[in-house]
Amino acid sequence: MDFLSADSLPWLSETQQRLRDARLTQRLPHSSLLLSKPGLGAEYLANWMAALALCEAAEGVERPCGACASCALLRSDSHPDYHLVKIEDDAKQIKVDQVRELIDSLTTKSYRGGYKVAVIEGAEALNANGANAFLKTLEEPSANTMLIMIARPTHRLPATIASRCVRVPLRPPAHELAIAWLEAQGNPGHNWEAALALAGGAPLLAAELGAAGTGSGRGGDGGIGALEQDMQDSLRALAAGAVDVTVLADAWARSNLPLRITWLENWITRRVYSHLAAQDSAQTAERVRLPAALLKPKIRALFELLDAARELRRLSATSMNQQLALEALLLGGRSALAN
Ligand SMILES: [Zn+2]
Repeated sequence: MDFLSADSLPWLSETQQRLRDARLTQRLPHSSLLLSKPGLGAEYLANWMAALALCEAAEGVERPCGACASCALLRSDSHPDYHLVKIEDDAKQIKVDQVRELIDSLTTKSYRGGYKVAVIEGAEALNANGANAFLKTLEEPSANTMLIMIARPTHRLPATIASRCVRVPLRPPAHELAIAWLEAQGNPGHNWEAALALAGGAPLLAAELGAAGTGSGRGGDGGIGALEQDMQDSLRALAAGAVDVTVLADAWARSNLPLRITWLENWITRRVYSHLAAQDSAQTAERVRLPAALLKPKIRALFELLDAARELRRLSATSMNQQLALEALLLGGRSALAN
């Protein structure tokens, strides 16, 4: 991954500017939490932040130069002071050992005499032990260390972790900006509107989905539009009990499964948001904050469903039996999916 790519994602520029200002005044945050849904380039931004701290060129305080020894090492994924942790292929969580190893490397001396940077992708996959192992590092960061975590905004990180980080929420760009960016990427004539809708407004995901739709051999963009209709119909039938779960799971597994799971994730996420908004206004009226355990069963069920969909998306990259997992999701989620 090349951090210079972050400069070509215009919706990140405001955040980049704030970080440049922080770097100039030597106030780069020790710990940052990038809250982002997939497809907004949070990984590129994290990498760019690392480069901003690690660049050794004089002008590097304003933007990583991309050419000094440190930038070159980072761009070739071999910088000794840069550490990346993410969930391993066959795992369900980030392992405590991975976290311990990371903490060790942050507490040893910097190889190049500058910053040490750690990035944790998918921080929601930290389990309680892993999160606890981090606490000391977060509370007493050693000098010149930078910890960047990336997590989904809908996911609940332990408060002990989240409250010790500078929160950096990434939001999808305005619709016109996203479309303009997608059109500038090539593939003229593509129906980017459909791809962007499917991606929930996230341009990088839309670009990926657009490419996948074309490659599916089902008429490209027509495929995405048809998929939208098919998914709506499927869920309606499922909620009404008019379709057999096994049959539906089999049909989904046979065609465009990754696109379907993405669609499902976005659909559930929208519902989580609208239920949360409804609950929030009820809370404001009561002037109390309800603990998570008292979340309405409907929202809890949707959260569980969202986790299941993410898990399925992860599985779909491996050789696990997707159809069984999909059947379980549809069966378990039937009532939460209704209306
Ligand atoms: Zn540099």
